Amino acid sequence: MLSTQELLARARDFLASFGIPKEEAEHEARLILAHLFGCAPLEVYFCSVDEKTSERFWSYIKERTKGVPLAYLLGEANFFGHTFKVAPGVLIPRPETELLVEEALKLSPENGKVLELGVGSGCISLTLALERSDLLLTGVEISNEALKIAGANRQFHALEERVFLIQGDWFSPLKPGPHFDLIVSNPPYVSVSEWPELSPEVRDFEPPPALLGGERGLDFIFRTLEEAPLYLKPGSFLLLEIGYRQAEEVARKASECGYEFYFLPDLSGIKRVFVGRALAKN
Ligand code: GLN
Repeated sequence: MLSTQELLARARDFLASFGIPKEEAEHEARLILAHLFGCAPLEVYFCSVDEKTSERFWSYIKERTKGVPLAYLLGEANFFGHTFKVAPGVLIPRPETELLVEEALKLSPENGKVLELGVGSGCISLTLALERSDLLLTGVEISNEALKIAGANRQFHALEERVFLIQGDWFSPLKPGPHFDLIVSNPPYVSVSEWPELSPEVRDFEPPPALLGGERGLDFIFRTLEEAPLYLKPGSFLLLEIGYRQAEEVARKASECGYEFYFLPDLSGIKRVFVGRALAKN
C-alpha cells in the first residue's frame, strides 16, 4: 500500500496532467482524502489508507478530471468560515460573495429584518444569521431542489427559528409594504454573450437558472432595483452582487430609480457589489 504522501503526490500529478495547476491539484487531493477520512486536511498525513479508501479516493479523482467541481464531488463548500451542503441544483458559493455578506453585516441594523432573493444553497442568509444572532431572515427561492438544500443547511446550522424560507418568484410571494431593513441578493447576472466565455466547470455543471440573467444579464438586477423600495423601510439598503461589466448600466438604472449608491470592488478591483438606498420620492 502507498503511503498517504505518495498517494497524494500521484493524485496531484494525475490531476495536473488534466490541466489543474499543481498546487491546486495537491490541495484538492488532500481535501478529497480528508473528506473520506472525516478529518481536517492537514491530519491526513497521520492516517493510513486502506484499499477501500484508496479505491474511493481514485474514483473521486477520476470524476474530478471530468471537470466536476470539487464542491459537488464533496457535497459541501466553505463560505465565510462555515460549511454548507451543495449539490448540482445550487450555485457553489463564491469568495466574492463574502464581500456582499460583509457589507450586509455592517449595514443591518440591530434586530433587523433582512430579505434575500434567490437563496440557492442558503449560504448568504444562513451566514448572516450565524454571524448576527439578532437578525431575522426571510429567503425567497423558486427552485424546489434549491429549497431542499437550503432547508437542509438551515437544519444543519439549527437556524429554523430565525431563517424563513419561502418558495416563489423573486418578490411575488411577498405583499408590498415597508417590512425589511435590508434586501440582499446574488442574482443570476450572466448575459447571453458571456455564457460561452464561462469556464466549462461552471457552464457544464452549475444550474443555468442561477446564472443567466437574460440578454444583458440585467433582468433580475433591474427588477430588484425597481421593486425593492416597495418592500424596504425608508432609508434602508439594497445590496446586490453584479457582473464584472455591469456597474455602468446598474448605476444608470439606479439613478433613474432614485437611489443614492456606491459600489464595492472585489479583490481584482472590479465593482462587484452595488449598495443603494432608495431616496424618498416627493
Ligand atoms: N460569479 C458567478 C460566475 O461568474 C456568477 C454568479 C451569478 O450569476 N450570480 O460564475
